[in-house]
Formats: sequence, C-alpha cells, structure tokens
Amino acid sequence: MRILVVEDDPDLNRQLCEALADAGYAVDKAFDGEEGNFLGDTEPYDAVILDIGLPKMDGLSVLEQWRRNDRNMPVLVLTARDRWSDKVAGIDAGADDYVAKPFHMEEVLARVRALLRRAAGHASSEIEVGEIRLDTRTARVTRNGSQVKLTSLEFRLLSYLMHHNGRLVPRMELIEHLYEQDFDRDSNTVEVFIGRLRKKLGAGFIETVRGLGYQVGGGADEG
Ligand code: CA
Repeated sequence: MRILVVEDDPDLNRQLCEALADAGYAVDKAFDGEEGNFLGDTEPYDAVILDIGLPKMDGLSVLEQWRRNDRNMPVLVLTARDRWSDKVAGIDAGADDYVAKPFHMEEVLARVRALLRRAAGHASSEIEVGEIRLDTRTARVTRNGSQVKLTSLEFRLLSYLMHHNGRLVPRMELIEHLYEQDFDRDSNTVEVFIGRLRKKLGAGFIETVRGLGYQVGGGADEG
C-alpha cells in the first residue's frame, strides 16, 4: 500500500511520513500544492493525506483537479481547527474523510486504514483468506491462528494482495504499490518476496498467473 502526504509544515509532514512508514506503508511526500497535484496525478496511490492550506495551489483546488481528471483514490483532508467550512468544502470537493488539526496520529492512521479497506471493498478491519488472517490494525498476520513473522516489504506486498483478494493483480501494479517514488525498482525482487511469502504462508496461497500477475483467494471473495 502506497500513500502520498501533501503538507507544507515540515515537522508535521515528517511526523506523518514516519508514522505511516512505521505502520508498513510506502510513503511519498510533497510540501506544496503543485508538487502534490503532480504526484497525485501521475503516481498510483492507495490513499492521500492532503492539507487544505498549501502554498502554490490550495488543497481544495488540488483535490478538485484530481477528481476532474478521474483520479479516484481515497483522500483524507487535514483542516484547520474549528473551520467547519473547510470540512464542508473538502467533502464537496471530493474528500472521503477529514481530520481537524491538531490531531492524534493514531486517529489519522485509523482513518487511513478505514479508507484503504473501504476502497478495496472490506468492511472489517481483519481480512481473512483461507488459513491466512491479516489484522490491519496491528499489522499482524496469522496462519491458522499462529503468528507469521514478515519483513516490512513482505507485509506490504501481502497486504496489497489481501486487500484485493479474489482479483488478479498485474505484476506492474504490484510493483507500483510496493515502493516509494525514489526507490530503485528492480522488478525481479518481487519474485523473491513472493517466494519468501510462499515459504511462510504455504506454497499455494499466492497464485502466479503466468505473464499476468498474482492473486490470492482464487475466484471467490472470502474477505
Ligand atoms: Ca498548511
């Protein structure tokens, strides 16, 4: 899962990025509206955290332009405290949720998790496919009830496939949602991670569709 943070306050931007990275997401950041607008328009994000008050281009204009361009990723807007008009304007502009500043980081993380789940069609915070259960709140993965230890990239890859269970995920899409923008992407490493995950989760859990991509959960949506 890959997330964009657009926030001009450097401390807040850093805190958000660190908290999201700790929670297992690939994170890109922008410090003004133009840069954020460009990234959101050109890179595939699973969710965006967007400040309303931004230099160069304000957050509402950024959001409106994305929606006009059919960029439909979930967007959480950050509003100034007590500015109820910001919340209304944000939702009218196409925001999926909002958090007022100052906020508790845990609240932002919970709202991001909910946006990611809902965008992928899951109502519950636990996603279960066959023997494997992923708890999105704790980033814990269990197989038949026993915890499976995963590295952060293994978790990120598995989380993306499980959020999209029952759907064939093209290899290129998987790579794009696994790494930050600046990461030197060697697509072969995906095969390595898939191999490691198969050892930990059972050989048949992740299916490879030759030349196309990967899938968990077969055709039936069990999540
Ligand atoms: Ca701001």
